[in-house]
Amino acid sequence: MVKAICSFEDCRGTIATASKTRTISLPNTVFEKFQLLERREKSAQSQEKHDFLIVEDVWDFDNIGVSRNIRPENDDDPRIEITDENLDEVVTFEHNGNTWTIEKCTRYLICAECDKGPIGIVCQVKNDKGEEKVVYLLSLSSLQLV
Ligand SMILES: [Zn+2]
Repeated sequence: MVKAICSFEDCRGTIATASKTRTISLPNTVFEKFQLLERREKSAQSQEKHDFLIVEDVWDFDNIGVSRNIRPENDDDPRIEITDENLDEVVTFEHNGNTWTIEKCTRYLICAECDKGPIGIVCQVKNDKGEEKVVYLLSLSSLQLV
């Protein structure tokens, strides 16, 4: 069993259990658009794809923080939220035999222990049958896998 933990040495808080069947790949543009935290030990080479753990129930996390703010470190306007304007290309992914399109991302995921992040995003997704749901996309490139 692989655990995804906070990459900061003074924290190492457990975030979630990683699983291959729940791992999806998203283009690097998503990672960069939302300025997701990059694991320190990672090589400087930029990747085309980033692995994300797709979580449908917040209780499936061991520990997670959810932020409303577009920039958690900026207190000037805590009401700012991520809007669909932030994603200016159509991003789709395969999961459970469906193709899902990211409609909009509304919140950031942060470490519940040390508040560092963002380590993921909360997004509304829609499949080709028109079904919509909210999913938690945890960036595995932002975390340590142990
Ligand atoms: Zn942490």
